[in-house]
Formats: sequence, C-alpha cells, structure tokens
Amino acid sequence: MTIKAAATASAGTLALVASFAWTGSALAQDLGPNVRKLADGVYAFVGENFNSNAGIVLTQDGVVLIDSGHNPIESRKLMDVVKKLTPMPVRLLIDTEPHPDHTTGHFVFSPPATIVAAAGAGDSMRAREREAPQRIQQLAATSPAMKTALEGYKLVPPHVEYQQKASLAVGERTFELYYLRGVHSEADTAVWLPKERVVFSASGIVVNQINILRPFVTIPDILAASKLMKSLNPEHVVPGHGQPGTVKIFEDTEKYYALLIERVEKAVKEGKTLDEIKKEVKMPEYASWASQDRFPTNIEAAYKMVTGK
Ligand SMILES: [Zn+2]
Repeated sequence: MTIKAAATASAGTLALVASFAWTGSALAQDLGPNVRKLADGVYAFVGENFNSNAGIVLTQDGVVLIDSGHNPIESRKLMDVVKKLTPMPVRLLIDTEPHPDHTTGHFVFSPPATIVAAAGAGDSMRAREREAPQRIQQLAATSPAMKTALEGYKLVPPHVEYQQKASLAVGERTFELYYLRGVHSEADTAVWLPKERVVFSASGIVVNQINILRPFVTIPDILAASKLMKSLNPEHVVPGHGQPGTVKIFEDTEKYYALLIERVEKAVKEGKTLDEIKKEVKMPEYASWASQDRFPTNIEAAYKMVTGK
C-alpha cells in the first residue's frame, strides 16, 4: 500500500516535471539559442565566444536587465528577446561593470531605463570615452550591421550609484547588489536574487577562460568575492563571460588560483625573479582555457601576492 502510494506520487511528479521541461524548451527555442531560462521570469542571455553575458528579469512592474549586451548588435538582440517575453518596458538596468562590452548598448534601453551601478562606474565610463574619442566611429566601421545598430548612440552613464551594498525591490522581486573590490574593473557588482537563488557574478569570475588581472586587481580580492558569492548558496551562477552553471564555477576558480599561487610561491622560494617565473611557470592543466595571452597578468598578480611587492 505504502509502496503503491509512493509510486503514484512519483509518477505524478514525473509527469509534472516532463510537462514543465517541454514548455521550457519550446519557449527557449522561440527565444533563440543564446537564451537560458534559469527560473520563472529569469533568463540569461549568453554571449557567444566569451562575449559578455546579460540577464533578463521580468517583474510585475516591468523588466530589469543585468548589463546591456556585448555590443549594440547584441543589445538589439537582447531587446528583441525582451519584446518576445513581455510588452512591459525595461525599467531598470543594473551594471555588473563599466567596461564597453557591458555598457555601450545602454542607449538602446535608456531612456526609459534607469541605470544603477557601483560608485565609480560613471567616472570610469566617462574616462574611457575621453581617452578613446574614436571608439564609436571605429566600432561602426567594423561592419554595416554594427553601423546600423549604433544609430542613436550616446554615452549613458549610470543614473544611480550605490556604495558597498544595495537592496532594490522591484515589483515582487528583490535584487541585492554587492560591490566587489579589486576583482576586474573600478566598479564591479554581483547581483543576487535571493528568492530565485540566481547570482550574476560579474567579470571577476569567468568560465574556461584566463581572466585579465589589471594592476589594481588582487587574487585575494577575487577569492574573497568567490567565497562571498558561494556563501549565498546560489542554484544558478551567471558569470560575466562564459557559460552559466553552478557553484562549481567558484570552485574551479578557487582551484585554478590555488595551483597558480602554489607554483609561483615555489619559484619565489627558489630565488627566481619575476621575469624568470613568467618564462618558467606554466599551467598545462588549463591549456584548453581561452585567452592564454592574459596569463602573464595572472603571474604578476600571483607574484605580488606571494612577495608582497
Ligand atoms: Zn570588463
């Protein structure tokens, strides 16, 4: 009797799961191959070939985006996906970082979207525009499609900047914003949806790719950010670049840096100079990762961490 009841319940559950899975995949197909449904009304827009990722979150009060796509062509694709999902406007756009591959397409959404970022993001965006005044012209010259997608371009820096941490309530959803220091740019934000258990990790965390560690980036800061996001116990992790996954993304990141530090530390103890270490220390276990040309910046950060210099 007990067994029969259990079997019936499990068959019922299976049928329910199967019907959801079918609806989900049919919908995902309609939205294109780059869109992944993570939870009800929560989607990842995954960039191809390590192009930046974005997020789409539907709420009763409108749409919230996380980043605006790798470039204006992608931003317009992102807008098309939003229009297929809902007639509601994009109310809010949360930046995970100020770099152009996450922010150039802001003009596609704002107005009407209000843009929120960590303190320093606006200064970073304005500085980039000053330092590279030809940037948009050069981008437009890459293809006729890009030129068309750039029509109406203007720089749209954040309207609201927060310090350290912010909690935003939009419709029935909550977005917790965590400022991540020293992990990638001047103003990185992890976006956490506590009810849906989805975290957008920003670009200090990438997948199957060597990250670029700029001089102000430190490995302890990256590890602290990874630990913080892992402690949230997310079900889905959407990195700044690369395929979305689970907390394994944080574990893989930690494993990579632990091995890098171990090797650099050994070489330092043997009295090697930074130049020698750059030539000698290799990570063959990660030869398949993209962007190997960035590896020297990883050695420099590990050396700085190990020697304190
Ligand atoms: Zn970046």
